[in-house]
Amino acid sequence: MTRYTGLIDQYRARLPLAADARAISLGEGRTPLIKLENIPRQIGFEGELYVKFEGLNPTGSFKDRGMTVAVTQAVHEGARAIICASTGNTSAAAAAYAVRAGVTAFVLIPEGKIALGKLAQAVVHGAVVIQIHGNFDDGMRLVKEIGKTTPVAIVNSINPYRLQGQKTAAFEIVEALGRAPDVHCLPVGNAGNISAYWLGYCEMAGIAASYSDYHQQGRFLDQPLTNKRPKMAGYQAAGAAPFLRGSAVKDPETVATAIRIGDPQSWDLAWAAQKESGGWFDECTDDEILTTQKLLAANEGVFCEPASAASLCGALRDIKSGKIAQGSTVVCTLTGNGLKDPDIIMKNGLQGLVQVPAERGAVEKVLLAHMK
Ligand SMILES: *Cc1c(COP(=O)(O)O)cnc(C)c1O
Repeated sequence: MTRYTGLIDQYRARLPLAADARAISLGEGRTPLIKLENIPRQIGFEGELYVKFEGLNPTGSFKDRGMTVAVTQAVHEGARAIICASTGNTSAAAAAYAVRAGVTAFVLIPEGKIALGKLAQAVVHGAVVIQIHGNFDDGMRLVKEIGKTTPVAIVNSINPYRLQGQKTAAFEIVEALGRAPDVHCLPVGNAGNISAYWLGYCEMAGIAASYSDYHQQGRFLDQPLTNKRPKMAGYQAAGAAPFLRGSAVKDPETVATAIRIGDPQSWDLAWAAQKESGGWFDECTDDEILTTQKLLAANEGVFCEPASAASLCGALRDIKSGKIAQGSTVVCTLTGNGLKDPDIIMKNGLQGLVQVPAERGAVEKVLLAHMK
């Protein structure tokens, strides 16, 4: 057995990093691809439905995949500080990898609307947390301006090294299944991740995406592991759905704070991924998202954050409507861990709490009433 030491060590030959760049890693990647058992049975789906649980990365979201590569490159180029705008998870990852590298992390977060767990992560890792009176899109605009004049490395997904790291999730899925799925479903916010997965699937199939040269020559396997690529399905929150509206949304609003973004930075790349893959964009209401989050937790034992549930929410709807054919192999990325945002679950008080006297008989009575 060799110890797994993170995705740069695992995939360095297929990442555009200098051979002598010291990997800044927390052992990210190699997350479980969990086959759902109960939900497919309940809805009569005879295909295979998997979730790639990215909430099990070191800081609890897929952002770690991008951050390990972005911070490794930034430090290799001599950066002493990194900066990002964030709805929460990017700041958590930036803060942790900055500590690892011994550089300063500056994170711009929107006013309110940030899950407490994510904010706690930025704080505990010692990032300089700057709360702006504005939303994510305002923060992103400021970071781009500041990056032009100040010697700080931007580690948002406009940094192409982020997408390079994030494409490795597609590598892992093809390796685990021995082929590409028929459909891959993702929540879409800033749209970097859907663009990164498409890059990864293209590289696994040995077929260039129109933007495979984005930042680097595509790194293809000598022997492709698969000759097919999935349709990419991107799901947005209805109140923050610029891909459905056809242009930026001014005041994005959703409980799924991680995708509360109105002006996605990877707009062109994500459209290319959708078109080249024959996939689609769709939207889910906040109610549908929260219902799916609970459905997954209560039926499969997997607790993801609200934004993550958008992928499964859209997939289930498209399976039921027949848009995703019976017998298909479907993978949904669960982008982040539900533990980051317990408030969303507890906001109506503690549901299902049973209070009894401290007596054996009283407890036994509850047990008998609840046995499955
Ligand atoms: C960042 C994030 C997203 C959105 O990913 P994009 O690459 O911005 O589209 C979705 N879910 C979670 C939990 C995230 O942290």
